[in-house]
Amino acid sequence: MTIAVERYPEIKKELEAAGVLLVAVSKKKPIEDILALYKLGQRDFGENYVQELLEKQPLLPADIRWHFIGHLQRNKVKYIANRCSLIQGVDSLALLNEINKQAIRQHRIIDCLLQVHIAQGETKFGFDEAGLAAVLSQIADRKNVRVLGLMGMASFTNQETVIRAEFRYLKSMANKFAHYFPVDKTPVVSMGMSGDYWIALEEGSTLVRIGSLLFGAR
Ligand SMILES: *Cc1c(COP(=O)(O)O)cnc(C)c1O
Repeated sequence: MTIAVERYPEIKKELEAAGVLLVAVSKKKPIEDILALYKLGQRDFGENYVQELLEKQPLLPADIRWHFIGHLQRNKVKYIANRCSLIQGVDSLALLNEINKQAIRQHRIIDCLLQVHIAQGETKFGFDEAGLAAVLSQIADRKNVRVLGLMGMASFTNQETVIRAEFRYLKSMANKFAHYFPVDKTPVVSMGMSGDYWIALEEGSTLVRIGSLLFGAR
């Protein structure tokens, strides 16, 4: 067990008090580290790579809820469609259509988040506001996907004001388009990682994706 796992109870408590879901990002981390967190009660884990998820999942308890948080290629949807509880980072209508198609095949409904491009420059993935509006206007026809909300990644910077403005923008998009998401719950706003989750909490995150702070550096 890495030393970092010892921080878990404290982080968990803070997030629970805020009503925020903690997804423990376990990419590049071994089975033993995941099990260590599992034994402390953690059930939501996030992976970025299809192959890694396929390798790890059969070796771990079946009640783990897996979140796919990486960039998903259309031709790989079929491999993970029945293994994920939430596909975050859906960044094109074509990808959403493919998830819907695989969901129909498997007679299930797959929960997703749409990724919004909030960072300056570096990440090329995600919708802008117009793209988001366009895809949201079509989701009602995709009966086997359920879009629960939005996901975003802030700029890789230590400038708090920049990060805060990006998170605030994502939250404002979730509020603006709230009528497209299931009406019986608040829209999911997936934002915040190890270095910036405290800002995300202040800006109304409902789900944080934390890796290195729990598992140690990758
Ligand atoms: C790796 C990753 C994280 C976790 O990053 P940390 O800085 O280790 O907390 C969160 N979200 C996404 C999309 C990632 O790829």
